[in-house]
Amino acid sequence: MIEELKSNCTQCFGLCCVALPFAKSADFPFDKKGGEPCKNLCSNHLCSIHDTLKDRGFNGCITYECFGAGQHVSQFLYEGRSWRENNECAEQMFSVFPIVQQLHEMLWYLKQALNTSEAVPIRSNLLEIYNKTAQLTSKAPEEILDLDVTAHRKLVNEHLVETSKLYRADFLHNTRKIKVADYIGANLDGKDLRGEDLRGKLMIAANLKHSDLRKVDFIGADLRDANLRGANLNEALFLTQSQINSAKGDAQTKIPEYLDKPIHWLS
Ligand code: SF4
Repeated sequence: MIEELKSNCTQCFGLCCVALPFAKSADFPFDKKGGEPCKNLCSNHLCSIHDTLKDRGFNGCITYECFGAGQHVSQFLYEGRSWRENNECAEQMFSVFPIVQQLHEMLWYLKQALNTSEAVPIRSNLLEIYNKTAQLTSKAPEEILDLDVTAHRKLVNEHLVETSKLYRADFLHNTRKIKVADYIGANLDGKDLRGEDLRGKLMIAANLKHSDLRKVDFIGADLRDANLRGANLNEALFLTQSQINSAKGDAQTKIPEYLDKPIHWLS
């Protein structure tokens, strides 16, 4: 996966820690308004408690992923001028960031679609929508604020659904399919779930220990506290670092090569 679509906090003005609002919850210990710098944000835009976020109840910070939007907004759209020194553009920057984050997320999925050999028949369409999305991220901030992101996401989504069908073609008519009405807390220990479509499924605290999750489409699935210990997620489609970070795994969990194993899985 290209580096531009991975967060690089050293090149960002701590935008997720300032621009986004947080409500006191299991993921964040206090309320914070959008545009208000988090009290743990240092003057160099890095987090002062980065190494102890999980122990202190900042799970939301561990699972958040900007897909490289932070450095793009900071260094490209605002040419390295921070909100700290440029008060007049701070509010605009904080509004632009979440829009670019959504566009970068789409680029992340589209890049993965482009890299799958099964999607070769629709490659030219994928390339076209990828380039169109990339162009949107390079527009002037004022133009970005006027974008109809919902409409663009719908367009991107059609291409991703098509990719998913091609990618999981060997499993689409499989009678083995396991019927699960409610995935929250479901016990799927050791199950063969290869090629399943888990798009957007709420799988909070599901037990997927030792399950076979190869070629599963995970786009938008909520894997918070799902047990992935010993599970095989090799070749999983549209899985993000944020989803992996929010789940529980161990050294035996197999994940796609485009993701990193979270440190808290190994301790
Ligand atoms: S706790 Fe750290 S990572 Fe989380 S919002 Fe505050 S500064 Fe950012």
